[in-house]
Amino acid sequence: MTENKIPYKIYLEESEMPTAWYNVRADMPTKPAPLLNPATGEPCTAEELGHVFCDELVAQELDNDNRYIPIPQEIRDFYKMYRPSPLVRAYCLEEKLGTPAKIYYKFEGNNTSGSHKLNSAIAQAYYAKNQGLRGVTTETGAGQWGTALAMACGYLGLDCKVYMVKCSYEQKPFRREVMRTYGATVTPSPSMTTEVGRRILALDPQTTGSLGCAISEAVEDATTHEGYRYVLGSVLNQVLLHQSVIGVECKTAMDKYGVVPDIIIGCAGGGSNLGGLISPFMGEMLRGERSYQFIAVEPASCPSLTRGVFAYDYCDTGKVCPLAKMYTLGSGFIPSANHAGGLRYHGMSPVLSELYHEGLMEARSVEQTKVFEAAEYFARVEGILPAPESSHAIRVAIDEAIKCRETGEEKTILFGLTGTGYFDLYAYQKFNDGVMDDYVPTDEELQSSFATLPRV
Ligand SMILES: *Cc1c(COP(=O)(O)O)cnc(C)c1O
Repeated sequence: MTENKIPYKIYLEESEMPTAWYNVRADMPTKPAPLLNPATGEPCTAEELGHVFCDELVAQELDNDNRYIPIPQEIRDFYKMYRPSPLVRAYCLEEKLGTPAKIYYKFEGNNTSGSHKLNSAIAQAYYAKNQGLRGVTTETGAGQWGTALAMACGYLGLDCKVYMVKCSYEQKPFRREVMRTYGATVTPSPSMTTEVGRRILALDPQTTGSLGCAISEAVEDATTHEGYRYVLGSVLNQVLLHQSVIGVECKTAMDKYGVVPDIIIGCAGGGSNLGGLISPFMGEMLRGERSYQFIAVEPASCPSLTRGVFAYDYCDTGKVCPLAKMYTLGSGFIPSANHAGGLRYHGMSPVLSELYHEGLMEARSVEQTKVFEAAEYFARVEGILPAPESSHAIRVAIDEAIKCRETGEEKTILFGLTGTGYFDLYAYQKFNDGVMDDYVPTDEELQSSFATLPRV
């Protein structure tokens, strides 16, 4: 097929949609380090994890061997309501940039929750329901994960309790209402409803909350109520596994047109969309079949890969979760309050951390005003109002395309456009009003946060 036959949007037929998730761990020679029980320092057993997570999800979390995990029919049917997501050839952006690069993006914002998070939410809710549970608890930062989970639980008739980081709860009242419309209960975190919330509030009554703190509350709620388990929207191996649906669809569509990306770019908060997008491509690279350049993009104000340390750390502020070995800024790290661009988590997926540690993936950090400049440019050229998180990937895709303009290289660039920015207009307002600034943590700040890492 020749280049000019490639349509603006490449869709897959229903019959071409993935029937299995791809588990990149099966192809990794060095597996991601196991989760540790903080009390014993030993790897968590399935039984221990089963107190917090659903049984089938525990099995997926610990599965480093099976390359393909079949997607249950009920989940495939739900996926059909909003998938396949379009793979867009960004002809307009290429032309505007005057670059010889060929740019593609996979757009995950075509569902009400507005992001890729629904791909894992439906899977996690499905396994909870299958286990006969009454409901699930979780945290949400910017609100996308909570909304996705509320949608999935609403569909399956499961109870859904969301702890929402307090500053988001106040800044994004409409997010909250979407969740409530789908039947979820939303509590601002830290709250007085949990032991750990009360403890954090006693130490710092003015705190605006953090993801790490909301996670602690959600875990405590799940483990102290019969018939509930905790679910998490990123970081964990199981979440990357579910998100591989993005990469598998993308690869199928690209293979269909004989397109091979040179560079694959994604934003990285906890690493789930990036991990999902790159998985099948990374698998080829790990098996020695092809090579690609992978770039993770993170905010300069929360630079876990580019400035963090690779160590065992707590996943949450309250230290109730297992320890994960990952690139981390320390579980007490809270990005500056003027950071509006999302991707605020202190750690990174153990799978991506291991791949990055081995030099199989690069990472870059970008300042938020540069991110919003890219977002605005993209919105005007390609028409989609991007989420600030996604705009980190747009920034680097544009930078790479400009490099191609300078060198004349015709590289093929693929990036993940994870969601829409309709609920981020407070951040856009700051940018439009010219009052957004950049905050980059100092080495001293990071050092004092590293000092709190557990000794393992
Ligand atoms: C949550 C979110 C992210 C970051 O999460 P990852 O787990 O790193 O993918 C990125 N973009 C959007 C739109 C999100 O909602």
